[in-house]
Amino acid sequence: AESAVGWNFDNSYARLPDMFYSKVDPTPVDSPRIIILNESLAESLGLDSESLKKNGGLAALAGNEVPTGASPLAQAYAGHQFGHFTMLGDGRAILLGEQITPSGERVDIQLKGPGRTPYSRSGDGRAALGPMLREYIMSEAMNALGISTTRSLAVVKTNNAVIREERLPLAILTRVATSHIRVGTFQYVSHWGKQEDLQVLADYTLNRHFTEALQADNRYLSLLNEVIDRQATLIANWQLVGFIHGVMNTDNMALNGETIDYGPCAFMDVYDPATVFSSIDAQGRYAYGNQPLIGEWNLARFAETILPLLHSDQSKAVEMAQDAISRFADRFHDQWLTGMRAKLGLFNEEVDDEKLIAELLDLMLNNKADYTNTFRSLTFDKSGATTLFGAPAFLRWMEKWEARRERQSETRQASLQMMKHNNPAVIPRNHRVEEVLTAAVERDDFTPLTKFLAILSNPYEHTTEQEEYTTLPPASTRPYRTYCGT
Ligand code: AMP
Ligand code: MG
Ligand code: MG
Repeated sequence: AESAVGWNFDNSYARLPDMFYSKVDPTPVDSPRIIILNESLAESLGLDSESLKKNGGLAALAGNEVPTGASPLAQAYAGHQFGHFTMLGDGRAILLGEQITPSGERVDIQLKGPGRTPYSRSGDGRAALGPMLREYIMSEAMNALGISTTRSLAVVKTNNAVIREERLPLAILTRVATSHIRVGTFQYVSHWGKQEDLQVLADYTLNRHFTEALQADNRYLSLLNEVIDRQATLIANWQLVGFIHGVMNTDNMALNGETIDYGPCAFMDVYDPATVFSSIDAQGRYAYGNQPLIGEWNLARFAETILPLLHSDQSKAVEMAQDAISRFADRFHDQWLTGMRAKLGLFNEEVDDEKLIAELLDLMLNNKADYTNTFRSLTFDKSGATTLFGAPAFLRWMEKWEARRERQSETRQASLQMMKHNNPAVIPRNHRVEEVLTAAVERDDFTPLTKFLAILSNPYEHTTEQEEYTTLPPASTRPYRTYCGT
């Protein structure tokens, strides 16, 4: 029976003003079957994995049945895409409702690729199997790395096809998030709604994510500051593991501070701030090294939307907003520096630490060193690090770093432990991701995917099983390219 699945929906978003969304049901598909189910996530949501795999459970994940208590809708939002403001909305996503978990948390259960919605424009509202499995891999890897992110509950494959440049198997991903409120949601309401609507959205966001801020003298200023803080932490964490989001449009920035919208994202291999993988980002707007600046730009767009709530005097409101935004860079930098010290096993602070870090990054850049493996080698195998570079300049840097570690009171053992917890042994390397996707999509072979997911679920473990996943792609391969919206 369906009740065995454990759905426990509430629909607070559906109680918001009508303009915030459009009610729409998923479009049914043929012969759905579960390709992958996140059993541990299901359990934490209060859902029974066995029941999710069949009958009504599967029908819900396929969009063939609306589970009891759900109230499906597509959310309205706008956004700056590569700097240009436009109306968007869930064109290929439908929020089923909010699952109230056994621990009392409220999380969005969203189908990605469930068919057309009023915001689909010319799109088909559908998604292909490869990109949905890719989102599953990347988001679960990020979660295991300890980085705030939306989660992936399941991928369902169907007998239908999506037509892109070729016919591809159609799939549906179930995405789980603490909410899907975006900078673009505020842009939409600020642009097309009344001030009351904006206040409703801001209060809703405060109640859902920032209840402490409700006590502040100016709760909307607190909201702004909290959102800034979470993004500073998030983007610092991205930089520290070499994650490139790839499409940091304002509609892809969530106010809860979760990484969202895994389209063209990828991990950097060779360290270079100019690294871009996305095929549509010819200008490098969303390059690795630009992510903090783009984050700040997006936050300024968010601040603009809530100006009328910050202060009734517009010029005072602008001043408050500018003040808040001007602190993003420092907050980001603090988080990043703390994280870099941890990656190098440094507990205390010395004034020259930034110089030491900059020198290492320069060495990596000049020697085309792999970002992840450099830190991994520094943690486990210094001779490995030496051969990585082979440069006398690197040996001099190592001496400086060793001397720096000697000057702190913590033991070498403690320093090493800290490095282990901050330098992943494995990341979803691009050529590995492609390999497992090819096996799954073209050969119906899901064994490599399952194994890869298991490896990625323990990135700080450093086991021998991981070794084969730490190697670089053959040097001859063409530059890696990623795509949006497939
Ligand atoms: P994204 O690049 O994934 O952030 O999506 C940008 C916008 O395009 C969002 O409004 C999406 O809902 C919409 N979109 C992307 N792919 C499709 C599709 N296949 N059908 C309809 N809308 C889509
Ligand atoms: Mg409506
Ligand atoms: Mg998006």
